[in-house]
Amino acid sequence: MRTKLIAGNWKMNLSRVESVTLAGEILHHTPAMTQAQVLLIPAFVHIDAVAQTIGKSHLLLGAQDVYFERSGAFTGEVSTEMLLELGVSHVLIGHSERRHVIGETDAMLNKKLLAATSEKLVGIYCVGETLQERNSGKAAEVILHQLQAGLANLSHDVIAQGHLVIAYEPVWAIGTGQTATPDHAQETHAFIRSRLAEIISPDLAEQIRIQYGGSVKKANAAELLAKPDIDGLLVGGASLIVEEFVGIIKAAELK
Ligand code: PEP
Repeated sequence: MRTKLIAGNWKMNLSRVESVTLAGEILHHTPAMTQAQVLLIPAFVHIDAVAQTIGKSHLLLGAQDVYFERSGAFTGEVSTEMLLELGVSHVLIGHSERRHVIGETDAMLNKKLLAATSEKLVGIYCVGETLQERNSGKAAEVILHQLQAGLANLSHDVIAQGHLVIAYEPVWAIGTGQTATPDHAQETHAFIRSRLAEIISPDLAEQIRIQYGGSVKKANAAELLAKPDIDGLLVGGASLIVEEFVGIIKAAELK
C-alpha cells in the first residue's frame, strides 16, 4: 500500500505574506488527513516562515532544489543540512525547469539525489519527455535514460526507507493546461515501475511512489489518482489557489 503524496510546487511565486497566508489556509481546510501526505514546496526564502505557520501539523515541507556539496565556496547554493535545519523533509530534484531552463545535467542530478537521500531527505526525482521527444517517438527512451542516469549508485537501503519518489512530469503538460490523459499517465507510470524493477529490484519498485505532474487541477485529480500506478500528484499552478489545491487533496483523501 503506497500512501498518496500530494505536493504543491510554488516555484518562484508568492511574497512572504502570501506564502504564509496560503499555507495557513491549506492547514485550515485540511484538518484531518489520514489517507494522503500533503507537501508544500515554497521558495527557499519563505521556507522558514511557512515552517512556522504549519508547525508540527500534518503538512510536510519541501524545497525546490538542493546542492550536492555539504558546505564551502558555492555562491548561491543551499545544502541538505541547511534544509534539514528548517524542517524540510522532501526536495525536488531535476524538475523540468531545472533541466531545461537552468541546464542541470543528469550527472549533477544524480549527485543531488545521492546527497539528499544520504542525509535522510526524501528526493522527488522528476523525469519526463519534451513535446519534440514525444512527437519523435522517443519518450520511453528519454525517461529510461533519465532513470538510469539519475538513480545510479543509489543505495537500496534509502529506497527501502521511502527516501525516493519519482515524479513523471511530461514537459508538454507543465503549465500548458494540457494534461496527460489518465490512461496515458497510467501507461507511462507502469512503464517507469517496470524499469525501476530492472534498475533497482522488483520488490523495491513496488514500494516506490510515482507522482504525476502536469496541469493537474481539482477537476482531473480524482481520475488520475484512481489509476493503480499513480501514487500522488505534483501540482504547480493549481497549488497556488486554495480552492483548487484543497480540492486536489480531498480527491486523494477519498481514494
Ligand atoms: C510543475 O511545475 O511541477 C507542474 C506540474 O506545473 P503545473 O501543475 O502548473 O503544470
